[in-house]
Amino acid sequence: MILIFKTDCNLEQVVTKAQEELEKHGLSSQRVDTQSSCVLVILDDVSTVPTHIFSHIPGVEKVVRVGPQCSLAFDKGVSRLKIGDTIIGAGRPVVIAGPCSVESEEHIVSLAKTVRRCGAAMLRGGAYKPRTSPYDFQGLGLDGLRHLAQARAASGLPVVSEVMSAEHVELAYEHVDVFQIGARNMYNYDLLKEVGRAGRPVLLKRAMSATIQEFIGAAEYILLQGNLQVMLCERGIRTFETHTRNTLDLNAVAALKSLTSLPVLVDPSHGTGRRELVRPLSRAAIACGADGLLIEVHDHPNHSLSDADQAITPGVLQEIVNDANRIYDALTPTPVSAPSAAVTAGAF
Ligand code: PEP
Ligand code: MN
Repeated sequence: MILIFKTDCNLEQVVTKAQEELEKHGLSSQRVDTQSSCVLVILDDVSTVPTHIFSHIPGVEKVVRVGPQCSLAFDKGVSRLKIGDTIIGAGRPVVIAGPCSVESEEHIVSLAKTVRRCGAAMLRGGAYKPRTSPYDFQGLGLDGLRHLAQARAASGLPVVSEVMSAEHVELAYEHVDVFQIGARNMYNYDLLKEVGRAGRPVLLKRAMSATIQEFIGAAEYILLQGNLQVMLCERGIRTFETHTRNTLDLNAVAALKSLTSLPVLVDPSHGTGRRELVRPLSRAAIACGADGLLIEVHDHPNHSLSDADQAITPGVLQEIVNDANRIYDALTPTPVSAPSAAVTAGAF
């Protein structure tokens, strides 16, 4: 249940009074200030409490029972993120690119400059790697984070990197600009609350078997902490198909764009697991409305320390960036401008 307040009143006083009123009914609530309004989210089960009890609280404009269409993720105030000079969710698609894992300082610094030249707006790279096998490369940890910070300084690109625990959040805070929550941790509610409290932008990946509602629910955990800088990332789901590593669910992209206001990215690298499919699926993702792409790139793809089969070359990345811009331009209506004086004179 969410209480939305009138804006023409003394919000501080009214919200405090409302919280006291709720406490009298044994209900705890969380205040969230969004760009467009201020809301109180009631954290307890109110399914048996009649709505009029809440609508009669002074200053309350609207009482909303939370369903798929009326969550914090649907608030218009969460539709854009500004990270450095880049705005995600503003229209033109944004490409985030880099290796699956940070491999060495020299490597990530050089690759950061390369992906920037290809048109990427942000750098990705894992320092903590959630690997299916404990015998596979697990990432460079804190050294990897330090290398990312070097790459950020050398290229000017903001950095996205995965955190898997509260300890990682603390360690990564000074080195990265966006916390990535990986597919395996989408259900880790304590971690979601932790990145919510950290107040940094979050790139939240869909778990491999999560429904769209569960995905939105996970985002809601972060938003509820007052951190409205959340972007969703579709990265493929597990199906009966074995030719590809996952099945990229583009239904989810269009659905999330209508069910939420949050920016939606697509990861065609994990979504397919095959480098020859990354470019076509990138095109499809932009065509169906994705706000950006998260792509694994390596200067020598076959030598990648992790996820080599899905790594593309910088040359292909450049083509994908060009495709994304061309598709976006083709699908975006140009504003009708008044004909220039010269044309008008000639025409009449
Ligand atoms: C990654 O982006 O490197 C990664 C591990 O992704 P996912 O969590 O989607 O598997
Ligand atoms: Mn990977």
